[in-house]
Amino acid sequence: MEQRVELIGLSQPELIEFVDGLEEPAYRGRQVFAALQHRRLRSFAEMTDLPKELRARLNKVGQASTLKVESRYISSDGTRRYLMKTHDGLPVETVFIPEEHRDTICFSSQSGCPLQCTFCLTAQLGLLRSLTPGEIVEQILIALNDAYGVGVKPPRGTNLVGMGAGEPFLNFDSLLKALRIMADRNGLYIVSNRVTISTAGIVPKILDLAKVSDRPHLAISLAAPTDELRNELMPINKRWPLEELLKACKVFEKTLKPGELFTFEYVMLAGVNDSEEQARQLANLLNRHGLKAKVNLIPHNPAEPLPYRPSPEETVSRFKKILESKGIHTYVRRPRGRDIFAACGQLAARQETLNTCKEIRSVGVTS
Ligand code: SAH
Repeated sequence: MEQRVELIGLSQPELIEFVDGLEEPAYRGRQVFAALQHRRLRSFAEMTDLPKELRARLNKVGQASTLKVESRYISSDGTRRYLMKTHDGLPVETVFIPEEHRDTICFSSQSGCPLQCTFCLTAQLGLLRSLTPGEIVEQILIALNDAYGVGVKPPRGTNLVGMGAGEPFLNFDSLLKALRIMADRNGLYIVSNRVTISTAGIVPKILDLAKVSDRPHLAISLAAPTDELRNELMPINKRWPLEELLKACKVFEKTLKPGELFTFEYVMLAGVNDSEEQARQLANLLNRHGLKAKVNLIPHNPAEPLPYRPSPEETVSRFKKILESKGIHTYVRRPRGRDIFAACGQLAARQETLNTCKEIRSVGVTS
């Protein structure tokens, strides 16, 4: 059987070209793009402003959606986790985080992850595969429709973070394409300065991103102030050690806009990377490179069966004080959605019934 084209992963010009192949005028391409990306319709049947015959033809050669929502978990703090399946049965997880000023959607770039970070549950899945641009975009469409209603404009805009499952920079081209599709003003219109991508430190891609105009913000997961410890916690460090990573950050720094800082994330593991000595080492490392950065301390989220405990609160605040005394802006990230396995490092396609959830149910999604 001929493969149906995943239309959700096409940019507006590509969609115009696609309908041109069906001998349809350009305005039809724009119409379909807006139906998918702006009105967030998930099936051709709903596009009642298109001629019936065209809808039928589109359905034969293309797909309006490919992800299926299997379950939705709602945390006591309002965070929602969606467990979805790709057409080939692989798990994809997305998290919607309601916030005071602007809601945030955390999306995945891969199903599973090839990096073997010892403190992260996703690592246990291994890499299943990288997601297509369409599968990245679809996660956001699904989360928005569920949170606000189909096609309803988010009242306060949306921030996106590429901090779900997977290493975004090992799926660089699809990621950038998805971001470009989402930035289109005829579609979702989520522009790059509302987007932050987190990487474990794929150095060549940090350098590539520095060359991209309209690039998203960058966050880098450090987790350790020395190569010795980072090699242990994040094996990717053996390939690109700290000096190389920070040198790439220095190149990237030249592209920062006035007032823009990039972020280092530092997961706090009790007795492993949270000592006063390690706080000083971290401050010295960043200061030695003179980086315009801030540090986000992330309390470790429980991830059974991993052998770590979160650092006690006092330890986190002492660590923060030391960094600040050395001139580094430091924030402590408030964990969200821990009770539904939605927090950082907890995405591992968990399906068990969770007592604290208000609701677990399938969200009907047509294809
Ligand atoms: N692969 C990318 C993006 C996904 S991880 C990266 O490594 O940056 C997003 C963030 O969650 C990273 O900063 C990671 O260090 C952090 N993290 C992973 N497991 C965690 C856990 N169990 N608790 C708290 N943070 C965790």
